[in-house]
Amino acid sequence: MTDSLSAGQSAALRPPPLPQPNWALFLDIDGTLLDIAESPDRVAVPPALLDDLRAAEQRLNGALALVSGRAIAAIDKLFDPLKLAASGQHGSEWRPVPGAATQAVAEVPLPAGLHEAAARLNGLHPGIVIERKSHALAVHYRNAQDFGAEIGGRLAAAMADFDGLMLLHGKFVWEIKDASLSKGTAVGLFMRQPAFADRVAVFVGDDRTDEDGFHAVENLGGLALPVGPLALKRPQGPGFATPAQVRDWLAAFAASPADSIRTGFAG
Ligand SMILES: [Mg+2]
Repeated sequence: MTDSLSAGQSAALRPPPLPQPNWALFLDIDGTLLDIAESPDRVAVPPALLDDLRAAEQRLNGALALVSGRAIAAIDKLFDPLKLAASGQHGSEWRPVPGAATQAVAEVPLPAGLHEAAARLNGLHPGIVIERKSHALAVHYRNAQDFGAEIGGRLAAAMADFDGLMLLHGKFVWEIKDASLSKGTAVGLFMRQPAFADRVAVFVGDDRTDEDGFHAVENLGGLALPVGPLALKRPQGPGFATPAQVRDWLAAFAASPADSIRTGFAG
C-alpha cells in the first residue's frame, strides 16, 4: 500500500463539509491527524493541533474521541496535557469521557507466547519495530520492507495456537488483536454515552482498521471520511488527501464563529 495520492488524485477528491455542532467526531491518529513517521515513536504533534482538538471537543460538547491502534497511555503521551475521550488498541480499551481512567474492554490480555514470538522477529532486521500492548501487538516494518511477507507468515504461524485473535495488515505494519473488538465496536460504545448519543457519527481514518469505524458510522446513518489512498476506495464520497488537510479542517472548525456553522447534516 502506498502512503500518498498523486496530485491528480488529490485534486479529484471532494472536500468534506466542515464539522457540524450535532456531529460526534471519531478521529484516528497516525496517518489521519499526524503524518506517518519512520517509526511510531517519531511522530510529530504540531502544538496548534492540541489547541484545535481542545476547541473542537468543546464545540461538540464533548462528542469527540480519538480512536487508535495505539494504547491510550501512548496516546496521552503524544497529546499531553490533553486527555480526550479515546479508544485504544483497536477497541480493546477506552476512556469514555475526558480525564477519566482507562477501562479495559477486552477481557483477556494477549497471550505471552505471542509477545515472545514477535520479539524473535527483531532478529530478522534491525529496522523492525515491535510495539507491545496489553491486548494487541504491532510489528512495524517501514524500515525493513523486504521482510513484510515473512513477518506476516511468522505471526500467523504463532497465532495458530490461540483462538479469538485476528491478524491485520496495515501500512507497513502487521497487528494482532482481539477478533471480537475493533474501531467499529469502539464507535458503538461511545454512541451509547450521553455526550455522543443522538448525534451524527463521523469517522475520519486512513487505514484498513478504520474501515470498521466507517461501517459502524454508516450503519448509524453517519459519514465516513477517508484520508489518503483509502479515499480511492470510496470515490463517491468526500475525503482528505493528507493528514495536513485534516488538521486544517479541524483548525477551520475550531476558529469558526459558532453562529456561522449551519445546523444539520451536510454529508
Ligand atoms: Mg491510521
